[in-house]
Amino acid sequence: MSSGEFLKEYTIPLLAEEGLPLVVLKMMDDKNKICPFVTSDGCKVYQDRPWSCRMYPVFPSSSGEEGFIIKEGDSCLGCKEEKLWTIEGWKKDQGIDIYDKMNESYEEITLHDYFLKGNKLDPEKSKMLYMACYDLDEFKRFLFETRFFDVYDVEKGIIERVREDEEELLSFGYKWVRFNLFGEDTLRLKDKVFDKILQAKRKE
Ligand code: SF4
Repeated sequence: MSSGEFLKEYTIPLLAEEGLPLVVLKMMDDKNKICPFVTSDGCKVYQDRPWSCRMYPVFPSSSGEEGFIIKEGDSCLGCKEEKLWTIEGWKKDQGIDIYDKMNESYEEITLHDYFLKGNKLDPEKSKMLYMACYDLDEFKRFLFETRFFDVYDVEKGIIERVREDEEELLSFGYKWVRFNLFGEDTLRLKDKVFDKILQAKRKE
């Protein structure tokens, strides 16, 4: 299933006030609103379960202080296990590191000063962010089936890693978003493209 098909079938798109596109998982249409991936044999996407499912029942403290809280006393069978875990041991066991890393990079965008100063994204920029952060197959198509690498100066080795590895692709997407939304130097235009833009600016 492509990322576009997944987004269409399993998520609900939302748009925050500042134009930030968000997606939430579409729960089942029953009274308990259960996750669409839960089966009588457990999670059918277990290897690819998201951050919150890996962390559960541990949650970062919401009081603003560093730390975690443990949610207890509901239907999670894990809560009935007798083995004691440290938070770090739990995170390691659940393979959280790469999810934490990607979440941190995502938050550097969504909690950016640009938004804190009251700026909003126009629909074009919202679409750009949605594609680069969520619809990775479409973003990959955009990179490799347009003249993208004629415009941006990207090393050959990085291009190959972005082509082969989805984590590299997502990290590259974050860089592209930061370059275009916030004017940060996370990417570089090719000299000839930069010169053309300068000339056009001088003519204005
Ligand atoms: S682990 Fe997460 S994705 Fe899997 S069934 Fe449970 S809630 Fe759904």
